[in-house]
Amino acid sequence: MPEDCIFCKIAAGEIPCTRVWEDEACLAFMDIGPLADGHTLLIPKKHYESIWEMPPDEAAHLGRHVPALARAVREAMGADGLNVLQNNGRVAGQAVGHVHVHFIPRVPDDGLGYRWPAGESDPETLKRQAEAIKVKWAGGG
Ligand code: 5GP
Ligand code: ZN
Repeated sequence: MPEDCIFCKIAAGEIPCTRVWEDEACLAFMDIGPLADGHTLLIPKKHYESIWEMPPDEAAHLGRHVPALARAVREAMGADGLNVLQNNGRVAGQAVGHVHVHFIPRVPDDGLGYRWPAGESDPETLKRQAEAIKVKWAGGG
């Protein structure tokens, strides 16, 4: 594990955290700087910086806990909705370089807002982009 990784240290129990749940491969704990009450993080215990570095089986193991944790966080906080968020790279808002999934409960008028400045598209551009992605997609059918 990288010596300076906060989440590796949390997973190893070297830095304290408020644990929600864990198994041999992943850990859910409370975010220390919550965007909302109940803001929870889910991490693989093994260090990966970005989601695209994770072996499919390990990502699947992490992902299989997402629905139940989302349900538990939302219901425990009495929230109306919940954002599941996973940032990769500084440009995308990632501050901690160890894969983590955010569970952020949402209630009306919570002030968090939602920025989604949708652009426009044309079929040719979408087709070209889809083809470029398909070329790179080794795991697809
Ligand atoms: P990112 O911006 O990388 O997607 O999110 C990192 C998250 O980790 C932030 O929400 C931040 O509050 C949380 N965080 C950073 N350091 C710690 C820590 O030492 N303990 C806990 N529990 N959360 C942390
Ligand atoms: Zn780490």
